[in-house]
Amino acid sequence: MCRHLAYLGPPIPLADLLFTPPHSLERQSWAPRDMRGGGTINADGFGIGWFQAQEPVPLRYRRSAALWTDSTLPQLAAATRSGCVLAAVRSATVGMPVVETAAAPFTEDRWLFSHNGKVTGWPDSVAALAAALPVRDLLTLDAPTDSALLWALVRDRLRAGLEPGKALAEVVTAVRAAAPGSRLNLLLTDGESIAATTAGHSLSYLATGDGAVLVASEPLTPDAAWTAVPDLSLLVAAPAAVAVIALEGQTS
Ligand code: GLN
Repeated sequence: MCRHLAYLGPPIPLADLLFTPPHSLERQSWAPRDMRGGGTINADGFGIGWFQAQEPVPLRYRRSAALWTDSTLPQLAAATRSGCVLAAVRSATVGMPVVETAAAPFTEDRWLFSHNGKVTGWPDSVAALAAALPVRDLLTLDAPTDSALLWALVRDRLRAGLEPGKALAEVVTAVRAAAPGSRLNLLLTDGESIAATTAGHSLSYLATGDGAVLVASEPLTPDAAWTAVPDLSLLVAAPAAVAVIALEGQTS
């Protein structure tokens, strides 16, 4: 269900993530290898967020159709370079709308966020968590989906000054307590570091010698060079270092 990736390092064409690698995000949209918890393809929209040199906030491109149907994107992606990218392809959870605004990344200021998974018992299971948010945040959710609410919960913590990894970990703990069995692979970047969680879905990373780090639901290139992140982990990566620790208090 859904595939996402984040890249941080020297500027590269977006195509090097979306189209060129053997198991590119485009390929993962129609031939994913490791879908868990339902879903076979990721055809319900996609989104790309990327930082451009000197620009303080990222640009975003989202669509509600399958990535492979966008005939303009390959050219744009070949011509656009970035040193920080977050991209996702979506397989809508049953009952959730297929609209552009439901496609990750969700964004505010420098933040780009994606969720791969599903909140069990949505929306009743997390009504109490949602009630703790300012009403304005609930009324302005990007879409009536679990992922948009998760972003509101993470964003609330980021606004309060929490470290990105801590914000993700807190949300995973709270949501899994309220809705056991939820699948919560979260991915977040601010252009300088990447934070990610694993809870129910696959995730791997690759740190290349030239100071680049790639985090992705499925390896984009032959697996041997990639490291699989164990379930129920928190990953925090900057180009120079990748740290993976267990998500405290979580059992599968
Ligand atoms: N539940 C989310 C949605 O419908 C994410 C779906 C997924 O990971 N497949 O958008």
